[in-house]
Amino acid sequence: MEATDHEYDPSGFDEGDGFRNLDITNDCDSVPVFGGRNCYQSWGKPNPATATEMGYLKNILSHEHYSVLEHSSATFYVTGVSRNLTHELIRHRHLSYSELSQRYVDMENARIVIPPALRQEHGGEVMGPLPWGAVRDYEATVRRLMAQGLKRKQAREAARYILPGGTETRIVVTGNMRAWRDSIYKRFNVSADAEIREFGGSLLTQLKEIAPGCFQDMDNTEPFGGK
Ligand SMILES: Cc1cc2nc3c(=O)[nH]c(=O)nc-3n(C[C@H](O)[C@H](O)[C@H](O)COP(=O)(O)OP(=O)(O)OC[C@H]3O[C@@H](n4cnc5c(N)ncnc54)[C@H](O)[C@@H]3O)c2cc1C
Repeated sequence: MEATDHEYDPSGFDEGDGFRNLDITNDCDSVPVFGGRNCYQSWGKPNPATATEMGYLKNILSHEHYSVLEHSSATFYVTGVSRNLTHELIRHRHLSYSELSQRYVDMENARIVIPPALRQEHGGEVMGPLPWGAVRDYEATVRRLMAQGLKRKQAREAARYILPGGTETRIVVTGNMRAWRDSIYKRFNVSADAEIREFGGSLLTQLKEIAPGCFQDMDNTEPFGGK
């Protein structure tokens, strides 16, 4: 069969203040159930408690047989989050990442993420323009270094040191259901930073829609660690 080439269509992916589900690799509940049933070749369903996918996965979760959850994965295109957030997110070693490069991408028009504690004084906004001083210093540094003979990429990679940690970034993140569960438990948690906690809650809400069985024991209404 002849391979077909597709031009990249950026529509719908160049703007946004939140995150969206970019891709789901496979049926996120069915494949773990298939993997689990394969272990004992238990294709018959004599027990009503485990006959459904929800019931089967409830039993899997109660036995902490988490490896079967590794058979399905989801990818998110995350926008409208800060570099502070992704600095913490990328510590989770079982997720995979592709993040916007501040060396290649011009940051003059970047936005800043307003953390939850400061939103009220910003009229409820979650994003705003970068502080004027940071933009001015960034632009001036790029121009000065290029005038000194540095290439644009080299000038940007030095000038980015001026940018605040709240600068918006964009990241594509892929993980299997087990890895998502573990990361969300740690980040949608009362001990976690407010922005990543909020992010973890949104993520859990989306994952509960994608894989209701795999996340049935995780409540998305209250952060973990509170009780
Ligand atoms: C509230 C909070 C505060 C934090 N504060 C800080 C801080 O001040 N400074 C700081 O540096 N970090 C901090 N962290 C990050 C934290 O230390 C972890 O790096 C991060 O939460 C990733 O979790 P993890 O290491 O458990 O596992 P992940 O990388 O998410 O891996 C999941 C699990 O896989 C297993 N695993 C993965 N890799 C290995 C390995 N090499 N060897 C053995 N087992 C492995 C472990 O069981 C691990 O729990 C903080 C995290 C949280 C949630």
